[in-house]
Amino acid sequence: MSTPLADVSVEASGCTRCPLAASRTQVVFGMGDPSADLMFVGEGPGAEEDRLGLPFVGRSGQLLDRLVLEEMGRRRDDGVYIANVVKCRPPANRDPKPEEVAACRPWLEAQLDLVDPKVIVTLGNFASRLLLDTTVGITRLRVRTYPYRGRVLVPTLHPAAVLRGGGGPMAQVRADLVRAKLALAGDPPLATRP
Ligand code: SF4
Repeated sequence: MSTPLADVSVEASGCTRCPLAASRTQVVFGMGDPSADLMFVGEGPGAEEDRLGLPFVGRSGQLLDRLVLEEMGRRRDDGVYIANVVKCRPPANRDPKPEEVAACRPWLEAQLDLVDPKVIVTLGNFASRLLLDTTVGITRLRVRTYPYRGRVLVPTLHPAAVLRGGGGPMAQVRADLVRAKLALAGDPPLATRP
């Protein structure tokens, strides 16, 4: 049965609003429970995601799945929705350009509106800065949680940073996921703004 989120996904699959359309294999819209109370927002698809059409399916995604299961007791298909700031892979995994992020934002806004999660976990600088509308970096943003349109936003490191950085970043992400779990249980945001 079609859902509003599935309808938007079909619409996005043909999107040519920015130049990333020219180099992608396919649009990586998002995946998971369409009525999840927990939503993760990353940066953009990598090579594996571009090939399969699904977000966070490479090594970063496998690590994220493991940490979410261990710290929050959840799996991808169980109350979790995952999306990215840009839905098409930037060539050679370069950073998305501001105009690409801006062009793609309506798709993310539609996902936020339709999934309507209680808690949003932003993964890394791009998603955290975009949704919190700040230039403050993730290493300073994390540790606190923030209000976001009646929800709680929990910034944390991108799992790729954990793969690069090892034990220290891993412990930080684990601690942030515990904050997200507490927010799901009703804890209010720890800060009013970045
Ligand atoms: S990145 Fe977003 S705005 Fe750009 S073509 Fe892909 S779906 Fe459209």
